[in-house]
Amino acid sequence: MASSRRDFLKIGAVGGTAAAVFGFDLKPAFAQLRELKIERANETRSTCPYCAVGCGTIIYTIGDRAKNVTAQVVHVEGDPDHPTNRGTLCPKGSSLQQEIMNDRRLLKPLVRRPGGTEWEDISWDDAISEIARRVKKTRDETFVEKDAAGHTVNRLESIAWIGGCTDTNEFNYLVVKAMHALGVVHLENQARV
Ligand code: SF4
Repeated sequence: MASSRRDFLKIGAVGGTAAAVFGFDLKPAFAQLRELKIERANETRSTCPYCAVGCGTIIYTIGDRAKNVTAQVVHVEGDPDHPTNRGTLCPKGSSLQQEIMNDRRLLKPLVRRPGGTEWEDISWDDAISEIARRVKKTRDETFVEKDAAGHTVNRLESIAWIGGCTDTNEFNYLVVKAMHALGVVHLENQARV
């Protein structure tokens, strides 16, 4: 059950009254409510995607991971074991649940053609094939074997790669290998973690 701040204040007032009038303390009951919210949830450790700090998060999800069940994120909090943020999140990171469970979240690739004004749907297969074709064409046309002084450089200056803070070390390792194999020299990552 989702409780608003107003509900919380009301419960607090009632709890205080109960303790004063009837002589019992409702704090353990409220603590139990808090535990129940994530009692059956799966914990997934992740990274806040919003900025270069790359704070660690724990995402609580309900749903038994069966194929016909859509997982629901019920809570997101800072990861106390993460060396960057040690359990804290700024207000933006604290609202991460609203980004994950959002009807406007983009879940498929889109393409806007040269001169076009609208974004069009494109399948993952077509998007990957089109990117591969364009990378090859660009590389074939612009690869630099020697610089102006005649030194062999074998580099590709017309393609750049930018990564983000949610990319893992393993992913970044493969990126660097793949990009250097193409000759790409302009590599950057938003995060410094
Ligand atoms: S929680 Fe805030 S500071 Fe941390 S990565 Fe997200 S946006 Fe950046």
